[in-house]
Amino acid sequence: MPAPLTGSCLCGAIRYTVSAPLSSPPSELRACHCTHCQKTSGAGGSVNLPIASDAFRITQGTPKRYTVKADSGRTLYRFFCADCGSPIYSQRETSPGMVTVRAGTLDNAGDMKITAHIWTRSARPWSHIDPASQQIPGQPN
Ligand SMILES: [Zn+2]
Ligand SMILES: [Zn+2]
Repeated sequence: MPAPLTGSCLCGAIRYTVSAPLSSPPSELRACHCTHCQKTSGAGGSVNLPIASDAFRITQGTPKRYTVKADSGRTLYRFFCADCGSPIYSQRETSPGMVTVRAGTLDNAGDMKITAHIWTRSARPWSHIDPASQQIPGQPN
């Protein structure tokens, strides 16, 4: 077993691990330009590592959960640190088997790269989108 990836919020109250098989270490990140990610980040959106829920484990603290109807119309749970406000991960009500971890909270980004951008139709004019990446105007299927 490779050492799991670790991450935390800004203040360190919340810590987590991401375990993945050595054969397929997580490397592909997805940037989301939806209006909700803009509000929660205070920036152009979020950069995320989508992974199976059973590979993700909170090892310290309890994130606060905010439930919201996403731009896609689906119910989304957004988990964040109630002390420092860092967004940690999100999960769709209808897809409990997956979580979307905010890549900026990882302690080490390794060889990760943004390979897809979603909700590009609401991207801020100052957000950079690599033309070589996959671009989806709204929610991918
Ligand atoms: Zn915190
Ligand atoms: Zn988003």
